[in-house]
Amino acid sequence: MRRFNLASLLSEATRGHTGWGRQWRSPEPKASYDVIIVGGGGHGLGTAHYLAKVHGITNVAVLEKGWIGGGNTGRNTTIIRSNYLYDESAHLYEHSVKLWEGLSQDLNYNVMYSQRGVMMLAHNVHDVQVFKRHVYANRLNGVDNEWLTPEEAQAYCPPLNIDRSARYPVLGAALQRRGGTARHDAVAWGYARAADQRGVDIIQNCEVTGFRRDPATGAVTGVETTKGFIGAKRVGVVAAGHTSVIMERAGVRMPLQSFPLQALVSEPVKPVFPCVVMSNAVHAYISQSDKGELVIGAGTDQYVSYSQQGGLQISTHTLDAICEIFPRFSRMRMLRNWGGIVDVTPDRSPIIGKTPVPGLYVNCGWGTGGFKATPGSAHVFAHTLATGEPHPINAPFTLDRFRTGRLIDEAAAAAVAH
Ligand SMILES: Cc1cc2nc3c(=O)[nH]c(=O)nc-3n(C[C@H](O)[C@H](O)[C@H](O)COP(=O)(O)OP(=O)(O)OC[C@H]3O[C@@H](n4cnc5c(N)ncnc54)[C@H](O)[C@@H]3O)c2cc1C
Repeated sequence: MRRFNLASLLSEATRGHTGWGRQWRSPEPKASYDVIIVGGGGHGLGTAHYLAKVHGITNVAVLEKGWIGGGNTGRNTTIIRSNYLYDESAHLYEHSVKLWEGLSQDLNYNVMYSQRGVMMLAHNVHDVQVFKRHVYANRLNGVDNEWLTPEEAQAYCPPLNIDRSARYPVLGAALQRRGGTARHDAVAWGYARAADQRGVDIIQNCEVTGFRRDPATGAVTGVETTKGFIGAKRVGVVAAGHTSVIMERAGVRMPLQSFPLQALVSEPVKPVFPCVVMSNAVHAYISQSDKGELVIGAGTDQYVSYSQQGGLQISTHTLDAICEIFPRFSRMRMLRNWGGIVDVTPDRSPIIGKTPVPGLYVNCGWGTGGFKATPGSAHVFAHTLATGEPHPINAPFTLDRFRTGRLIDEAAAAAVAH
């Protein structure tokens, strides 16, 4: 596989870019692997990369029922930040932001991580109190976050309406300057290419339909798929909104609900929006892509569903709020909208670790906000799969916490926010 660098770019430019070749192979599955990952999103592909790179485990397959990155990884609004409230979450998401900061170099693939700052608007006294609490808690954990007055917020983001008589007045904002956005497809493709280079088999159009277990020990011995049985010593399920369906086939009932979450983009315009702005109170999130489109995220539907589109009333409500907070966008046309299926836990924190079935591991529950966690989640999940024990960072995020009551309640930071 050729590396991307100035010399290879220049040499390809002189011959019409005809010599790059495929970025990853499309192999047929082998009879068995040391580790099988179910789900070819960013978290699954990243796990395979770190298994190979950090732990030297290369006899690995990633099984994807559709195409890689076709799930939530390729459908999200790409907001990255680490300003979560509790110590456990701050450590997990900050671990991820640190990996984001070196990811393009690690993968030799430009994931376009742009640290343009993520600003969370406070519209009422409750928001002000909650966000200030986050600022102080984040600082204690070494995570950057600062409080801005409405005027400072507008200076950072000029299109922001800070008129006090607005329906959603801006009383201030919390700003994480190291937050930002990345290119979602590139994350899936970069991890796929890097994992493939180290020998990982990425098998698309291969749906996992069930599990085989040892009758004596109950341990998982492989997976049934639409391409036949594939043996495995360990299996990691990383299937986002479909995790509970898959895990039920192994007899494990997951504390998850799956909701549609939707996003939409406007027609492209010149650079007009310098950062990311989130308004949790009105469920609206906005940034501008490098193509020029305004990327707008809405809230989840109120009902559970597996349809990859959201209700029109949800996006209408979001656009209503966007026009009030940024009046200059009121005449823009929306081009496309789409949805993804997000897997939501009762405490809005993920589950990363062992299950009651020996050899079966799960990484899920990222809900509306797991893109930002992709590198960190994949890194600690690879450790868990390789060693059979959690990494210190994911140790608190057990499935068992819903039995013991040791919840990590990030509802205020993650309920609908990204
Ligand atoms: C509209 C929207 C906006 C969002 N915005 C943000 C944001 O701004 N910031 C943020 O941090 N997060 C955001 N998220 C959440 C984020 O996208 C997800 O948490 C994250 O991408 C999950 O990654 P993943 O790799 O776990 O899942 P996915 O990318 O969904 O990958 C799971 C894969 O499993 C595959 N699969 C399912 N069943 C099977 C099976 N039986 N066999 C084989 N494969 C199977 C699926 O096809 C899928 O490709 C958003 C989500 C949506 C939908």
